[in-house]
Amino acid sequence: MKAYVDPDICTGCGLCEDACASVFSLNDDGIAVAIEDELEGDVLKEAEDARDQCPVEAIEIKD
Ligand code: SF4
Repeated sequence: MKAYVDPDICTGCGLCEDACASVFSLNDDGIAVAIEDELEGDVLKEAEDARDQCPVEAIEIKD
């Protein structure tokens, strides 16, 4: 599974980075980006938590 952030929806609130800094970070434009690695185990669970916390549903986690 991989995480994706829709840059057109993200507001840059930073919640995903707070919840899962190993996957999400804010770029120079203040928009969240996700690492391109395959997610599994605890990291996947953390990333799913971050997705669930995103107030604008900008995060997708899929194959
Ligand atoms: S939680 Fe959602 S809106 Fe906030 S920075 Fe992350 S992707 Fe963007």
